Amino acid sequence: MLRTKNIAAVLAGLLLAALAAGCGREGSPPVKGPRTDRLPTYRVDTGFQLPKSPTWRKAHRRGYLVVGAKEDQPYLGEKDPASGVYSGFDIEIARMMAASLGFEPKKIRFRTIASANRETALQNGQIDYYVGTYTVNDMRKKIVGFAGPYYMAGQGLLVRTDENDIHGPQDLAGRTVCSAAGSTPYQRIAADYPKAKLVAYDTYSICVDNLLTFQVDAVTTDDAILLGFAAKAPDEMKVVGKPFSEEPYGIGVPRGDTALRLALDDALEANERNGNWKKAFEATLGLSGVPAPKPPPIDRYPAN
Ligand code: GLU
Repeated sequence: MLRTKNIAAVLAGLLLAALAAGCGREGSPPVKGPRTDRLPTYRVDTGFQLPKSPTWRKAHRRGYLVVGAKEDQPYLGEKDPASGVYSGFDIEIARMMAASLGFEPKKIRFRTIASANRETALQNGQIDYYVGTYTVNDMRKKIVGFAGPYYMAGQGLLVRTDENDIHGPQDLAGRTVCSAAGSTPYQRIAADYPKAKLVAYDTYSICVDNLLTFQVDAVTTDDAILLGFAAKAPDEMKVVGKPFSEEPYGIGVPRGDTALRLALDDALEANERNGNWKKAFEATLGLSGVPAPKPPPIDRYPAN
């Protein structure tokens, strides 16, 4: 009995894979995950020591890093449900950082943390650092630290392809728009576009499900995230208008661990210089149609 069930599951899986591979409409972009064959390998700095960082000391003693991430953001942070393996641009940034801190890729344990729970996870020591479309801003800097930024995104809008009336946030009056609780895009709509009917969920993938089932008229968050969803279902969804904010992505660290923050800044800079950043971008986020930009300048702000 068990055996037949397994065979049925395998056949169903094969069928799904065949459908995914063969059913793209002619001319539509291929639906692909990150190009693992094109990812850089990061040199692990085995002799690395950072005694001034309490976070690093704890991870070193433990023998592995615990890194917070997203698991449902295409090309940025995705978890394969079958293997449990994480992939995407943010995940590559996390691996790059780990290598510089002396940890090989298999010495990282990723933990999915939703937007609204990032600060608490860092404050409680549940994670050593966080890489997941995390905008650096002054409010958050009162609670956590940020290395980077390593990428500049901007807020945008995702709608169904048959939508012709939404071109920017000003068109959201009386329409329903979905975003993630605790995110900067959610806060911006609430503050600047009060006529929009704003709904919040834990994740953007739930918002996208709601868009596809006509529960909401638009999804708003960073363009980098929305372009990934649109690239996976180009017949169903499109990104409209121009970005209407600046969302610099930083690596969240426990506040006060300046040694860790500056070590990550150094590691980012080194990887931007040696080409790993660009190579990682092109094998991940670049696949949603964004050409590799120049990374934004790193902000080594004084201890606050
Ligand atoms: N970058 C924005 C933020 O940090 C939106 C993306 C997210 O929720 O992770 O709030």
